[in-house]
Amino acid sequence: MNREVIISEIISRYEICPYPSPAVHRRGKPHTTVDFAGIREEDKKLRDEFYMRCALELAEASLRFGEVPVGAVMVRGDSIIAADFNGRESEKNALYHAEVAVIGKTCREMGGWRLPGCELYVTLEPCIMCTGAIFQARVPRLIFGASDPKAGFFGGIANACEMPLNHKMNVVSGVLAEDAKNLLEEFFTKKR
Ligand SMILES: [Zn+2]
Repeated sequence: MNREVIISEIISRYEICPYPSPAVHRRGKPHTTVDFAGIREEDKKLRDEFYMRCALELAEASLRFGEVPVGAVMVRGDSIIAADFNGRESEKNALYHAEVAVIGKTCREMGGWRLPGCELYVTLEPCIMCTGAIFQARVPRLIFGASDPKAGFFGGIANACEMPLNHKMNVVSGVLAEDAKNLLEEFFTKKR
């Protein structure tokens, strides 16, 4: 079972998004580089759900590796730049959270540490480490599903957006949260 083959197979089914995508600008402050001007709120919401469904499929795939099910997708304009899922157990690596893995892949893909125009979709509220990585990469927009009251850093145990950090970002929470929560609950019920 090859992680990258599974990821490619899932991404291939989400290559064409049926909803309009934001304009991306190379220049300008990173947090202003995702431009939804002219896009209806309803379409924006449907687009967020579309990419979150991709992240959820990745989370589901991580179950096959005995991982806590979390998936993440990086999108830029109308294309998926990178995707991954939690690999802490299978890769035996404390740093292998879906978001950190996806940020690393996106930096390699874009040839830089700053990720203007990128949107990170993740099924679960990011932890302190992933939040640090998101701010380091200046990701302008984060969309997450389920909240994590025990470890989340976007409202769970703390809120990075309220800290005096040198980057302002746009955050959307609760997108298909029930699905992400159900996957997690299913995993922890089976484990017990
Ligand atoms: Zn994390």
